[in-house]
Amino acid sequence: MIDYKVQPISPEAHLFQVTLTIQKPNPSGQQVSLPAWIPGSYMIRDFSRNIISISAHSEGSELRLEKLDKQTWKLPATKKPITLTYQVYAWDLSVRGAHLDTTHGFFNGTSLLLRVDEQADQACLVEIVPPEGEPYKKWRVATTLPSCGANPYAFGTYGASNYEELIDHPVEMGFFTDASFTVAGVRHDVVITGKHYADTERICTDLKKICAQQIALFGELPEMDRYLFLVMAVGEGYGGLEHKTSTALICKRDDLPQKHQTKMSEGYRQFLGLCSHEYFHLWNVKRIKPKSFVNPDLRSETYTTLLWAFEGITSYYDDLALLRSGCIDLDSYLQLLAKTITRVMKGPGRLLQSVSDSSFDAWTKFYKQDENAPNTIVSYYTKGALIALTLDQLIREGTEGKFTLDDIMRLLWSQYGSRNIGLDEDGVEQIISSHTGLNLSGFFDNAIRGTDDLDLKSTLASIGIGYRLRQSRGVNDTGGLADPTTETEGSRLVLGVVTRSDGKDLVLTNVFKGGAAQIAGLSAGDTLVSIDGLRVTEANIDGLVTNAINGAPVTIHAFRRDELMVFEVTPLPAVNDTCDLWVKQDVDKAILARRASWMLSAV
Ligand SMILES: [Zn+2]
Repeated sequence: MIDYKVQPISPEAHLFQVTLTIQKPNPSGQQVSLPAWIPGSYMIRDFSRNIISISAHSEGSELRLEKLDKQTWKLPATKKPITLTYQVYAWDLSVRGAHLDTTHGFFNGTSLLLRVDEQADQACLVEIVPPEGEPYKKWRVATTLPSCGANPYAFGTYGASNYEELIDHPVEMGFFTDASFTVAGVRHDVVITGKHYADTERICTDLKKICAQQIALFGELPEMDRYLFLVMAVGEGYGGLEHKTSTALICKRDDLPQKHQTKMSEGYRQFLGLCSHEYFHLWNVKRIKPKSFVNPDLRSETYTTLLWAFEGITSYYDDLALLRSGCIDLDSYLQLLAKTITRVMKGPGRLLQSVSDSSFDAWTKFYKQDENAPNTIVSYYTKGALIALTLDQLIREGTEGKFTLDDIMRLLWSQYGSRNIGLDEDGVEQIISSHTGLNLSGFFDNAIRGTDDLDLKSTLASIGIGYRLRQSRGVNDTGGLADPTTETEGSRLVLGVVTRSDGKDLVLTNVFKGGAAQIAGLSAGDTLVSIDGLRVTEANIDGLVTNAINGAPVTIHAFRRDELMVFEVTPLPAVNDTCDLWVKQDVDKAILARRASWMLSAV
């Protein structure tokens, strides 16, 4: 048995103290280590850098700890119980790390709990204690770690059957509100930390419909006693991380609906989409997973070319579940889909990198995006979602409605996920081909390993959705639902850049490949001073560029570092990268039937 004690020893200094007792050490010596990354977030984060002190004792005497690498320590051989005591600095307010202050504490096991390498398959106990002092007397604990004596929402002892399970249950402590609903006979809790005014009843009603929708899609909820949505409400922030029986989320408090609000705000729609996304991961990636993610090595990068399937298919179904569960209508869904398409089309990198390569290189590219990222990479989330949409329609059309992508997901669950069998790298393609009898190898080669744009116009036409790409009308134009009878405007001239305001300065964030600014020599990081002698701001840049006489160059003054430079830039027509979608009214019965069946709730 491995025993941990987690103590927020100094909330003011953001320090947790962990005491780890190895009751029966391996007689030939052992190693302890902290993961370098957390499953679900594919980046080396070196959590061990936050261990600020560590020591080991056995029966009152100090043991020599030998550090083998950045995250591993070797302990001398002994038969007597060993106790390690270490302090961890916790000041990362994200769903991936650990955070502690006088208002709350949050941690993932990957940040705090050392792995006893030779005994990683052993059961462990974790005693979670409150910080000392009066202000913390009423703190509570929220986690899905199985209780080993702790009362619901209380400090006390929790446990896990092995290390992998231990680190898959984030823990929140502090003051929070809680609400519950039941789906498929399992209690689902929603815990919200941070200042907020949320209508938890409405959140529960909507989440219940979404969860029921996804359970019906897969045919069953994986075996569990309880599921937890662990929400941190903040002023600005967004993110989520999936776990086997819970999810940790960060959202803007303004995105949560309040009692007097009844409409579906854009923020609340986004929050429900995030919850829906993480809940879908219960099956897709937490249980249906690539072979390399079964017992992954958390010391270094673990590669797969399949993130397009795990994140992309999940991204397809997250918004679709909102539609199918009745939380949003078709127009609202199309608005979301148009924005996803626009995001993909705005990145020239989609013509250079495939989603298969984007998946494999997530560690160094998608998770480490620099100013040139839009020119060189494609998102396996957004393009992956569009591949899933296309695949769904190809399967529906090719099998005359006999099979759908829903069937494939159910099959992946029953044949792999529910049996804890990892998927081969071509596993998704294989199961689709063998189950539907369709030969989609050309589509897979292009969509997954190639870089040509998908034929979304015909895909969407097959379910009676109109599609067009047009020029963007400005920085805030992200595409959406359109009236098809409106004409698209005449040609708009642009520099081909993304800007951000930095105080009074306007700085180039991205310079697009082949755009006017890049051709003239402007670079990301340059600070724009003026266009044709007039001071340039975020508010007037569009006007200054479009006012220029068609085809004539404009003179741009800009600072690169501290050197003033002059550029002659000839604005170019904006590319058609902004998507409009609409519901077609005059379509034949077969198309209407296909659309109805695609939108049909699985419940
Ligand atoms: Zn995800």
